[in-house]
Amino acid sequence: MTEDDRTRCRCAVLNVMSGEVAREYARYHLQVERTDGMGRQVHRCDESGVSWLEERRASGYGEDVTVLRRAPD
Ligand SMILES: [Zn+2]
Repeated sequence: MTEDDRTRCRCAVLNVMSGEVAREYARYHLQVERTDGMGRQVHRCDESGVSWLEERRASGYGEDVTVLRRAPD
């Protein structure tokens, strides 16, 4: 994955992503905005203004899987 792929805004076309893709997208493209009432981190894209909720899902292999879900407007 190139640097450009990591940081390119795909917030308008994607609703959910998971695993390595979600971790990298949050790390390189999104800013942590706040933590919601359920203890989930809310990430925000400055470019598009879209907010994303970070969830953890048990993978069954020890480490949890990171899931990013686009927050409803
Ligand atoms: Zn974006």
